[in-house]
Formats: sequence, C-alpha cells, structure tokens
Amino acid sequence: MKKVFIFLGPPGSGKGTQTSRLADKLSIPHIDTGSLLRKNIQDGTELGVIAKSFIDKGQLVPLNVVSDVIKDRLLKDDCLNGYILDGFPRSVEQAEALKVIMDELNTFSLKDDTLAIYFDIPTDVLVQRLVNRRSCPKCGTIYNLISNPPKIMDYCDICDTKLTQRKDDNEETARLRFETYEKETAPLYDYFKQMGILKELDANKSISEIWENLKNIIFDEK
Ligand code: AMP
Repeated sequence: MKKVFIFLGPPGSGKGTQTSRLADKLSIPHIDTGSLLRKNIQDGTELGVIAKSFIDKGQLVPLNVVSDVIKDRLLKDDCLNGYILDGFPRSVEQAEALKVIMDELNTFSLKDDTLAIYFDIPTDVLVQRLVNRRSCPKCGTIYNLISNPPKIMDYCDICDTKLTQRKDDNEETARLRFETYEKETAPLYDYFKQMGILKELDANKSISEIWENLKNIIFDEK
C-alpha cells in the first residue's frame, strides 16, 4: 500500500472529512495547509500576517510561505510512517516543490510511494456546500448544516463546543477560491495523471459512500 496520499479537489469537495477518517484508520497525520495557515493567523505570527492577506482574497499564499509550513510539518516524527496531504500541493509549482522536499527528507518518493486522489464533483454543488459548512474550533469535526447537521444546532456532537464558520466560506470569497482552483490547482490533475499516480473518486455521493469507495481505492492499490 502507498504511504503518502494527496487529496486533490475543489474547495468543498469533502476532502477534509475523508482525510480525517483515513488518518484515524491508518494512524498517520492529516496535514492540511489551510488549517496550518489559519493557526498561524490565530497565533499572530509574521507568517500568519502575510497569509491572511491572501486567504481573505481567496488567493493562494505565496510558495515560499507554504513550502516553509509544509517542510516544518513533514520533518516531525509522526510523518515517518506516512501522511495525508489535504490542500497541498495546490499548483504545479507547489508539486515540484513537494518533490524537492520529499527528495531532501528521503523518507518517501512522490513517484513511487504516493497516491493522488482526485475528488470529482460538479461545481454547482460546491458553493452551497461551502456556505453551509461549519466546524468545531476545538476538535476540528466538520459539519454541513444541510447534509450532515450536528444533533443540536450549532454545537459539536463530540465536544459540545459552539461551531464556527470560516471567514472565507462566504459566497463571494468562495467564488474567488473556485477561480483560483480552476486556474492554479486543476492543472495538477494532468500532472499527476502523467506521473501515473492519480486515482479518481466520485465525490458527489454521501459521506459514507465516498468513504467506502475511498477505502476500496486505497486498499486495492498495490
Ligand atoms: P483551505 O482550508 O484548504 O480551503 O484553504 C484556505 C485558504 O488557505 C486558501 O483559499 C488559500 O488562500 C490558503 N491555502 C491553503 N493551502 C494552500 C496552499 N497549498 N497554497 C497556497 N495557499 C493555500
């Protein structure tokens, strides 16, 4: 089985939910650049100040900032058995940078140890998904007010914390994020396909159906 997984797909395609499940099942870390950047913003770091100006506009944070964040994270010991990347790489330029970082770390190779999974979903479903997304600031559980609501409105089922909505999950910023996705991230589909490491997943299904299909893809992979 492969050791490194790259979850690729537009904002709101359900990557985060499935990454958490897979990370639990395989006991490997879920590395999500969006959350790492938001943590820097929350902590008021210099890097967070730079990141915020791009995130608020739905644009990609510059390569050097994201590369530093990801490299720091991949150096941690919990990545030695594998890891799942969610939201990185987000451009061909970032994929090239990832290859260099992986070669430097010398634990896994992009070509031989990695599986990229593309979450395929029609764009018109996505804006509705994003504006209805809520998450728990304490334990990170993600909800959707329509398709996967919490048992008590606005409170986390697991730790009873009040749910929050991401600032960039409003309709206007969501549209800008889709434009950025089409321009910068969509070309990664061909990039990984040509490399022979891409598998596709129909992401316009229920969370449990996607999870079953995802497991089939991952555990069938030689
Ligand atoms: P996400 O939580 O993955 O939807 O990311 C939220 C925002 O963080 C994006 O709209 C970008 O502004 C920024 N971001 C997250 N990951 C990356 C990345 N790999 N490269 C550049 N910007 C990123």
